[in-house]
Amino acid sequence: MSDLRPADGTKLLIGGKLLEGSGGVFATINPATGAHLGTAADATADDMGAAIAAARAAFDETDWSTDPAFRARCLRQLRDAMTEHVEELREITIAEVGAPRMLTSGPHLEGPVADLGFFADLAETYSWRTDLPIAEPMGLRTRRQLRREAVGVVGAITPWNFPHQINLAKIGPALAAGNAVVLKPAPDTPWCAAALGTLAAEHTDIPPGVLNVVTSSDHQVGALLSEDPRVDLVSFTGSTRTGKAVMAAAANTIKKVFLELGGKSAFVVLDDADIKAACSMAAFSVSVHAGQGCALCTRLLVPRSRYEEALAATAKTLGGIRAGDPDDPRTVCGPLISERQRDRVERYLALAGKEGGEIVVGGGRPADGGDGFFVEPTLIAGVSNAATVAREEIFGPVLVILPYEDDDDAIRIANDSPYGLSGAVWGTDPDRIDRVVSAIRTGTLGVNGGTWYAADAPFGGYKQSGIGREMGVAGFEEYLETKLVAYPA
Ligand code: NAD
Repeated sequence: MSDLRPADGTKLLIGGKLLEGSGGVFATINPATGAHLGTAADATADDMGAAIAAARAAFDETDWSTDPAFRARCLRQLRDAMTEHVEELREITIAEVGAPRMLTSGPHLEGPVADLGFFADLAETYSWRTDLPIAEPMGLRTRRQLRREAVGVVGAITPWNFPHQINLAKIGPALAAGNAVVLKPAPDTPWCAAALGTLAAEHTDIPPGVLNVVTSSDHQVGALLSEDPRVDLVSFTGSTRTGKAVMAAAANTIKKVFLELGGKSAFVVLDDADIKAACSMAAFSVSVHAGQGCALCTRLLVPRSRYEEALAATAKTLGGIRAGDPDDPRTVCGPLISERQRDRVERYLALAGKEGGEIVVGGGRPADGGDGFFVEPTLIAGVSNAATVAREEIFGPVLVILPYEDDDDAIRIANDSPYGLSGAVWGTDPDRIDRVVSAIRTGTLGVNGGTWYAADAPFGGYKQSGIGREMGVAGFEEYLETKLVAYPA
């Protein structure tokens, strides 16, 4: 078994072989210290071309797409291999992603690994063929069969914030559905994906070419997946700006695009809620993984009549959370992924002041953060929902508190966003809660702390937060085509 973080750099997985990158290697950095961790294979356009060709051949020339029982077995092998190597994967994840150790037993690692079982089960139990009732179109008695078939070659492009969760939430359903996949992870987190490729190559019967992992320092290598006519579907998670580029590039070959994009979700505290509990939860959740979660609620909407109480409760909780070492099991708020990302967050914090806002808590770097890319959990008050910091995704531990007048005003502000990914509603009157939940235009909502994240729960966005749903049966069906076959009855 290969070392999952070899000193001479991790490898690409192309056509079943673990290979060097034609572009040499590139560095991966520990965001908690700024230190050089090691290197990953740097793929070029030629490597990507080879990976797409391998995937195309595996899809067109093997029976992978027609053997769901075999696919289920391979997915369980992958899950078991990741489980067997979970401690090595945990150390990679903490070191490369800055993922808080406590989250690696949940959504950062062990959760999504276990979730592969859901997609393996689905490959076995899904109704691939169903009969429609006999019909008589144009007087011709007809028996009709609806078949669901794999789309073909899937290009999966993923970001750095929850690499295992997002890589596996694409690979799991795409492979279960019978596709061949080329995974192109973010340049900031190549090791998490390369470990997945190595384990797949060495511990599973996944046929050569069915799963390819192409790490690269060059975003344009990933862009080839959107353009290439041999790719049938691009499954992309990342920023809305890049999602638009993917969609535009895919238009030329009319490929299916599945997009999971950004968010600026609202946490709505109704005036009959336990304000202290609600605001503390909002403050805590925006600090988790340094706010690097697309579905985190980064706008806190509170009733103006209880604004001071809400502000105090939010400030108290946020002020009590330290940004610190992700290796420490007590840490919830680790570093940002890179210096570039910290610069971006700090630009927004400076902008808050220029837009008339006040930084109530945080706003700086922790004194003991060393060379790590830390930002203190921060609360911004005194801006309206029109301010840039209330409209754009900051992707840091930053919460903007906004007062509203009544329930209708809260709904208006929550929906006054280009995004529609997630949200939260807190209150006591079920009818009022239900009215607000119905009116907010987002793909997921948690009520009074309810958790929507699970393998069987579809996740995705309205508006500019994306197209399609990841996970659940809906997430699996994104990777299927529909064929209708008619026979004389
Ligand atoms: P990003 O858009 O910069 O990059 C995402 C991926 O796209 C990377 O692999 C990158 O190499 C690749 N890429 C860059 N340019 C490309 C191009 N022109 N064509 C094809 N691929 C290209 O995003 P990021 O900074 O890595 O991640 C943060 C963003 O991801 C945030 O906006 C966040 O909200 C979003 N995100 C969304 C979800 C979701 O499910 N909705 C989940 C996690 C993260």
